[in-house]
Amino acid sequence: MAEITVEKKSRVRGRSRRKGALFVISAPSGAGKSTLCKELLRKFGDLKLSVSYTTRQPRKGELNDVHYTFVTQKKFKNMINRGEFAEWAMVHGNLYGTSLNRLKKLNKEGYDVILDIDVEGAKQIRRKYDNAVYVFILPPSMKLLKQRLTKRGTDSKETVSRRLERARLEMGGYKDYDYVIINDRLEKAYRELESIILSMRARTKTLDPDRIKNILN
Ligand code: ADP
Ligand code: 5GP
Repeated sequence: MAEITVEKKSRVRGRSRRKGALFVISAPSGAGKSTLCKELLRKFGDLKLSVSYTTRQPRKGELNDVHYTFVTQKKFKNMINRGEFAEWAMVHGNLYGTSLNRLKKLNKEGYDVILDIDVEGAKQIRRKYDNAVYVFILPPSMKLLKQRLTKRGTDSKETVSRRLERARLEMGGYKDYDYVIINDRLEKAYRELESIILSMRARTKTLDPDRIKNILN
């Protein structure tokens, strides 16, 4: 099974190696994943979100290559044919995919990586990488999910209905994930997510062996 190994600059001395951690985070649209991830990225300088490719139209305020790389269906399909995606899926009628090159580059630069992807994409990653941790974020109820999607104000009424329908299906996929966070109170949900990141980094198989050697010497 493939594993991402990163060359990571040790803050202690010289260069050292540790396996790059991959955090796969899935949630039905509106559950609060972007809000939670934004806070994680603000707090952890060595954690980056992999910017996905998509054929969906940009929402108001979304920037190309920052929120997504927005491409045509033709370009996306060419990328599929050339094997350029670590995973890809059709979500809400649009194509979304994680670039293999971007993933490798981020890890080479020494970052741990968050993949904000759907359940189908997560299944594909599970088959390819054995060093990922899977987190599913649930809303406290369908009623609140609808309220949040409406409050966000980025989608039409029709799109909100479509997203709610899909949410029911997606939420059934939580069982395949290592952790489930119920996003009722934002601060509590964030603390849970942060704890998962910290504990993943302390796992024996993720630790930098050179750093441990330095301690033992
Ligand atoms: P997602 O990225 O999962 O689609 P967002 O992060 O955009 O969801 O959140 C959807 C809306 O719900 C946003 O307006 C956000 O501010 C709000 N929200 C997120 N988490 C909470 C929470 N715990 N309590 C109340 N509102 C929340
Ligand atoms: P949105 O259009 O609301 O930004 O995202 C819709 C859904 O697409 C979310 O569930 C999000 O996790 C998923 N998604 C975003 N990028 C990717 C990707 O690269 N691959 C897959 N499989 N899903 C993605």
